[in-house]
Amino acid sequence: MTVHFHEEDLPAGVLAPGPVAVDTETMGLITPRDRLCVVQISDGKGDEHLVRFAAGSDYAAPNLRAVLADPERLKLYHFGRFDIAALKYYLGVVAAPVYCTKIASRLIRTYTDRHGLKELVRELLGQDISKQQQSSDWGNPTLTDAQKDYAASDVRFLHALRTELNKRLEREGRMELAQACFDFLPHRAELDLAGWPEIDIFSHM
Ligand code: MN
Repeated sequence: MTVHFHEEDLPAGVLAPGPVAVDTETMGLITPRDRLCVVQISDGKGDEHLVRFAAGSDYAAPNLRAVLADPERLKLYHFGRFDIAALKYYLGVVAAPVYCTKIASRLIRTYTDRHGLKELVRELLGQDISKQQQSSDWGNPTLTDAQKDYAASDVRFLHALRTELNKRLEREGRMELAQACFDFLPHRAELDLAGWPEIDIFSHM
């Protein structure tokens, strides 16, 4: 199990075929203001790859873009709405098709309102991850080991979570509804970027 660190792009051919777990770290929560600093990606075989973008980057990243835009590769996220918007805005790709562990959790773990990644990993996989570095300076040219470990842990468990969540979605007959939500997610991210970030267009009010 190794964390690989790269600057400005993913090397070619480092990922096994199949679904990839994807996460992003940014300067903050407002996508056009807060630049994309790190993209984490894992094929679920035990290694994580971190791609760091410097201030002023042109975000060319042809290898990373190709993986993210590949229609044959399912992308696994936790709260993909945010990551998909950031990847669209900075890398210019719709990183789909999509699976979101937060949406799956909301559809199946209706006995709780705790749908954070840490809580999901704890309950479904019995593992403990730290969220201590979540709010740190991801634009720093030198990322600390703690930041790299944290960034990697955000994609480390998404494959296993999907397996566990799917068992429950199948059991309760909610797989089809979940899939419809995943399919809509890139459009929800587009609405965020287009000026409807907080407005629920399905709401009567
Ligand atoms: Mn993260």
